[in-house]
Amino acid sequence: MTHSIKINKVAQSRVSQVELNNNIVMGTQFTDHMFVCDYQNGEWTNARIEPLALIPTHPAAMALHYGQAIFEGMKATLGKDGTPLLFRPYENAKRLNHSADRMGMPSFPEDLFVEALKQFTALEKDWIPTQPGSALYLRPFMYADEPFIGMRAATSFKFIVMASPAGPFFSRKIKLYAEKKYVRAVNGGTGEAKAAGNYAAAIRPTEYAKAKGYDQVLWLDAQNFEEIQEVGTMNIFFKIGGKFVTPDLSGSILAGITRMSVIDLLRDKGYEVTERPITITEIREVSEDGTLEEAFGVGTAVGIAMIEEIGNADLTIKLPEDNPVSVMVNDTLNGIKIQEIEDTFGWLVE
Ligand code: PMP
Repeated sequence: MTHSIKINKVAQSRVSQVELNNNIVMGTQFTDHMFVCDYQNGEWTNARIEPLALIPTHPAAMALHYGQAIFEGMKATLGKDGTPLLFRPYENAKRLNHSADRMGMPSFPEDLFVEALKQFTALEKDWIPTQPGSALYLRPFMYADEPFIGMRAATSFKFIVMASPAGPFFSRKIKLYAEKKYVRAVNGGTGEAKAAGNYAAAIRPTEYAKAKGYDQVLWLDAQNFEEIQEVGTMNIFFKIGGKFVTPDLSGSILAGITRMSVIDLLRDKGYEVTERPITITEIREVSEDGTLEEAFGVGTAVGIAMIEEIGNADLTIKLPEDNPVSVMVNDTLNGIKIQEIEDTFGWLVE
């Protein structure tokens, strides 16, 4: 199916006013255009790329009151010959629709999602930073814009894609606060959806963890505060006795696209990777018996974040200093994204 996307370009790009390759901070600058599509009378219409601008919003827009708002996060890089590349965009399209389903929102056609991203990224090509480790961060999102007060699914929505250049992420090791009061997700809740409200609920606990000297929250299950779910806005991996484990997708965990890629990459390198429940007690025990070798968080924004410590008032787990496999995974993923390493998995889309 082909989709026609109307394009209305800016008269003059702002890209030359931005110090693109000077460690630009993700989320602070936005590119010239946005892709917009409206959902009305049961269908998506008027797919268009237009100059980035404010969007008039009725104060009763339902997203503002009842939180029907979901988003995605992905990155575009430049390949060897300067071709813009997307990393596994069909996975983001699928996950957006999974989130939409949970939040009572309409699905967005996957082929239109990818086509919009292709055309939008091609148009904003000059905004893709070229410093190693940098990329153009793409933010597709959907929200209910129907003006109505009352508790039901909205009938009109907007799907928008905007973009922000992101400089290289200088990864330093992170300390995780094993949170035993607040939770991110419960069985049957919305943890598996990339819903705006999940992030709102995580803000205050993250501030508390930072005030205690930690970098991110290690989210544990709501019943027993035992099973490890995620870290901040990343999925988590442990290397124990030469093998990798990551929490299984129990319904409370966001199915990260970096997570699924890291699983494939590690298996390809010959490592055993198991998806299963992992408790904080198990991690304490393998740390004590010396078989805990590496731990890292994975996500689009950061890539791979090495973990140096997990703790709270009653617990301190220190990770070994060396993390050679984590470094290899990080370098391989970054190398594939700029075609310095061959994409044998077929992850890149031009
Ligand atoms: N968990 C949460 C809660 C997240 O917000 C993210 C970022 N999207 C991830 C995990 C990692 O997902 P991905 O690898 O697709 O960026």
